[in-house]
Amino acid sequence: MKFALVVIAVSVRALDRVFSYRIPDEMQDKLDVGMRVNVPFGMGNRMLEGYVVGLSDSVEIDETKVKPIAAILENYPVISERRIELAYWMQKKYYSTLSECLQCIIPKKVKSKTYKCAFIDYDNTETALIDSILAKKNKQSLVLDMLINGDSIPVDHIKAILGIDGSPINALVKKGVVKTEENEIYRGNYNLARTVKSSPFTLNDEQKAALDDILTNADRPVLLKGVTGSGKTEVYLQAIEAVIKEGKQAIVLVPEISLTPQTVDRFVSRFGDAVAVTHSRMSDGERYDQWRRAAGNEISVMIGPRSAIFTPFENLGMVIIDEEHETAYKADQSPKYDAREVAIKLAELYGCKVVLGSATPSVNSYYAAKNGKYYLSEMKNRINLSPPEIILTDMREELASGNRSIFGRELYKAIEQNLADKKQTILFLNRRGYSTFVSCRKCGYVMTCENCNVNYTYHKYSNTLMCHYCGASAKVPDICPACGSKHIRYFGTGTQKIEQEVNEHFPTARVLRMDADTTSKKDSHAEILDIFRRGGADILVGTQMIAKGLDFPDVTLVGVIAADLSLNINDYHSGEITYQLITQVAGRAGRAGTPGKVYVQTYTPEHYSIQAAVNGSYEDFYAKETEFREMMSYPPFTNIFFVLASGEDEQKVYRSIMTLCEIMQRYNKNGQFKIFSPAPAVISKINGKFRWRMMIKSDDSEKITNFVLFTVEKLRAYMPLDGVNINISLNPNYSF
Ligand code: ADP
Ligand code: ZN
Ligand code: ZN
Repeated sequence: MKFALVVIAVSVRALDRVFSYRIPDEMQDKLDVGMRVNVPFGMGNRMLEGYVVGLSDSVEIDETKVKPIAAILENYPVISERRIELAYWMQKKYYSTLSECLQCIIPKKVKSKTYKCAFIDYDNTETALIDSILAKKNKQSLVLDMLINGDSIPVDHIKAILGIDGSPINALVKKGVVKTEENEIYRGNYNLARTVKSSPFTLNDEQKAALDDILTNADRPVLLKGVTGSGKTEVYLQAIEAVIKEGKQAIVLVPEISLTPQTVDRFVSRFGDAVAVTHSRMSDGERYDQWRRAAGNEISVMIGPRSAIFTPFENLGMVIIDEEHETAYKADQSPKYDAREVAIKLAELYGCKVVLGSATPSVNSYYAAKNGKYYLSEMKNRINLSPPEIILTDMREELASGNRSIFGRELYKAIEQNLADKKQTILFLNRRGYSTFVSCRKCGYVMTCENCNVNYTYHKYSNTLMCHYCGASAKVPDICPACGSKHIRYFGTGTQKIEQEVNEHFPTARVLRMDADTTSKKDSHAEILDIFRRGGADILVGTQMIAKGLDFPDVTLVGVIAADLSLNINDYHSGEITYQLITQVAGRAGRAGTPGKVYVQTYTPEHYSIQAAVNGSYEDFYAKETEFREMMSYPPFTNIFFVLASGEDEQKVYRSIMTLCEIMQRYNKNGQFKIFSPAPAVISKINGKFRWRMMIKSDDSEKITNFVLFTVEKLRAYMPLDGVNINISLNPNYSF
């Protein structure tokens, strides 16, 4: 082939196409599709990095004008042809540039660490020569003794063991007997020392059926809907065992490694060093090395968050997505990919199986299962355990009968009893800080962040007001900034206040708190969970961080302090989030023999999400939720595009989104798209930037994507958008 098709590694839309370069003669045997190269670009021939995405024997332009490739950066392809196809698919699906997609699939290039190894060059050395040096019993012969089995041993290692300097080895190299090579060292391997090897359980009937569903349904994704503690993880483990037996590889996605240490441990203890783990706090070097180990077939299983979906297994047999309902599987920066959709595309490219597992599937996935797009496999019973008993407490009644405390009377008694029984308790509230808003009793003024239109949260330990959006903090005022009154009041409850109330009411209890404020340090998640697991505390207070995947045998009581909190967010997902949170946190109770009790406190006990969670009925929740979404025209019944315009100059922001709306209306032939008027976003200002949004709905996700891209281009051509950022999102996790 004479020419290479190259994508330049810069995310500029104008450069979002394939450029042809000539392959110089000396690169003919070396260059391959998927390699990273340097190419001269533009008038000034600036050297830019690019990826070879194809080869060709002809070009459409004058051949003599085609510039040559300057250099090949690694002597191996960094991306396979199938994954280049994936990048093209992502570019279209997530309205992104090809370069962005390639850079998302290929980890940042970090120079590998290498070490020098020595070995005997048996191919080119006469045995007689080796024997003669042996026979001499000197330093050189000692070196040969170490290498005689044909091993390649690090030079530093040889020197340390034999207590020699490098000269005997160098002398052997000169004689042509020994050769050296650079081998890569991989950084960031999981510490295997502390894990004990586990063996498979004998599956119960439900698990057997689920495993069978997974292994036999190759044509579509399997949605494994299994209540917490039904043994899903064991099913994943045995499914992967089958994959490995076939000589294939598996990817396991978990929402967040630091919150699911036990799940990761179970994979490592089953598969040992066949498993690698990636996580968000890894350095680029560590991530790159894990990726190289996968590409080199040195491992069979990769566990990690969303981005682990791009692990370069070329013999991919299975992708498992645990807790598939988690919003973390959808990227919120370009390319805004959904790991679940990428997994399904991988199934098409590699013929691998896809398993989506959850106790509380997302409405979208369950809808897909109901419509036959996914295969539904269910596990309804906990292993050797009955479901926790869930008790609803109507906090309005508590108030009416004079209880102004944050604990309902029943929960209070249960905590007392649990402490006496030396059992552990989890108290859940999905809001950190102490008080959630601070306001003047006289004039009603609410302390608000100046950068964002968001109430300040009061943090008692630092005695400051904090903005949870931009992180700004402010002093607590002595008098109202608006009217000068001294009557400043603190309203609402956060995890800090729960912790303090527990300390006041149960002074002997040892309390731990886990939220974004206590887990900012690198290993703090693991430390808190470790203390609790080892019985170092009686009560764990926390935000949604404690709701997921944790298995604490001694926890027999869970209190949901305010179940309606997540209902009040201004978002059509609120019912789904509420159902999931209550169900997930309830699943923490009674995991080892002792039955669990869960108290759910609420001011809106009649809401269907709360009712369904308390009754443990996903079907009830799903029926009501889909009824609401169909009536309101929300996904999965339609597609919503959110356009967000933001910038420091509110006038400009306003003008650009209004103009966009006009352009859209002009091109909206026969009204096929439903265009809503622009409005301030749910949070109308963040970090000093004003935010306006608009919504467009359509049944056809491809048509609406093209329409939005087209009209935004028209807007850019029509007016300068400097200082205004236009952000578009199809069916995002959160309404803007
Ligand atoms: P899930 O992932 O659905 O929450 P797990 O896989 O964590 O459930 O299983 C719950 C508990 O049951 C775990 O402690 C696990 O070790 C145990 N377990 C799973 N399968 C079996 C089995 N077949 N026999 C006995 N114990 C099992
Ligand atoms: Zn006031
Ligand atoms: Zn702020």
